[in-house]
Amino acid sequence: MSLQTEEIYRTLLLYSADAVIVTNPAGIITTTNPSFAKLVGSPMEELIGSSLDSIVVADWQEAEESENGKQQSDQDENEEEESALKTVTVLTRSGTEFVMPAAHFPVYHDTKKAELAGYLTIIYVIQANSLQQAQTEFVSTVSHELRTPLTSIKGFADTILRAGERLDSSQQRRYVGIIKDQADRLTRLVEDLLAVSRLESKKLQLTIRAIDIREAIERVQQNLSDKAKKHTVIIQVPPGLTPVWADADRLEQILTNLVDNAIKYSPADTTVTISAKGIQGTPELVEFSVADQGVGIPEEHLPQVFSKFGRLDNPLVRQTEGTGLGLYITRSLVLALGGQITVESVPGGTTFTVRLPAATPEQQAARGRG
Ligand code: ADP
Repeated sequence: MSLQTEEIYRTLLLYSADAVIVTNPAGIITTTNPSFAKLVGSPMEELIGSSLDSIVVADWQEAEESENGKQQSDQDENEEEESALKTVTVLTRSGTEFVMPAAHFPVYHDTKKAELAGYLTIIYVIQANSLQQAQTEFVSTVSHELRTPLTSIKGFADTILRAGERLDSSQQRRYVGIIKDQADRLTRLVEDLLAVSRLESKKLQLTIRAIDIREAIERVQQNLSDKAKKHTVIIQVPPGLTPVWADADRLEQILTNLVDNAIKYSPADTTVTISAKGIQGTPELVEFSVADQGVGIPEEHLPQVFSKFGRLDNPLVRQTEGTGLGLYITRSLVLALGGQITVESVPGGTTFTVRLPAATPEQQAARGRG
């Protein structure tokens, strides 16, 4: 190694925020960096010569097996790196344990990989910290969102129990009505949270087939007809539009969330327009949009609407029930279906536009039209 390269590696090790550990084939630490020392709470000199297994608990077996496998097969580079990523437990000097993402690579003496020199382990401290922070924020927001309806349920139930006889029947009905509404809100919240967890754990099962978008839009309009009594809903779909290549339930969920919002965030006696068209190109796409004549979203808040619990403050938001998870779920579903979602808004109207892959003629022929 040239002097300059050596200097680069030394500086990288010294200043890397991630913990780096090199061991000999027997797992004894030969080199490490200040980040690892800080993480464990022991000086570097003390760590060198210790067994890595006594500080970092990991099941490297699987990663090593896939390492060996990869020498025989010709997987691409990215796959190799991904297969080495593991979750490890770091035992610190103070007794605290940290669960963190890490990678483990064999290091060889020569390029032919004939003689093992040891192992290089990287513990991704920054990634672990931001994950931890995101989780803490999520738990605190969820707790807050759950507490609001629970406080109200408990308060009104207490009142009915205490004041019981003294309340007239219309008051009793009103309080029970509030309890029911708040219980509904809790149910919606829990359902949305489950949907988020399914999406984030990538356990979403998709059944992709060719779907007639007009039929999907009409079904959603029908399902929401009770909520849309005070609005005019117009559907504009050209005849013979190419079907979309999507999962029918998820497509309906996307449409439902967008149309439901359009109704919620626009005043009575306005129009909601659901339109669709084909976009020529390779690949061919189908675009549909939901446009309302509502309160609009200020430009600076547009990016926020797709984030978890992203509810904006405006008079209609205060009047309507929502979890702030709808558009986050919607965008995750659109991405899972290989599409894109965009939003444009001015005071007096918001349009959400979704582009999804169109079914190719072969896909339409193979699966039939949904
Ligand atoms: P919510 O459960 O609050 O409706 P969403 O994730 O569906 O959650 O929407 C997030 C926020 O985006 C809403 O609280 C609202 O402020 C804003 N929003 C969504 N759709 C519209 C719309 N069509 N017009 C105006 N504001 C909207």
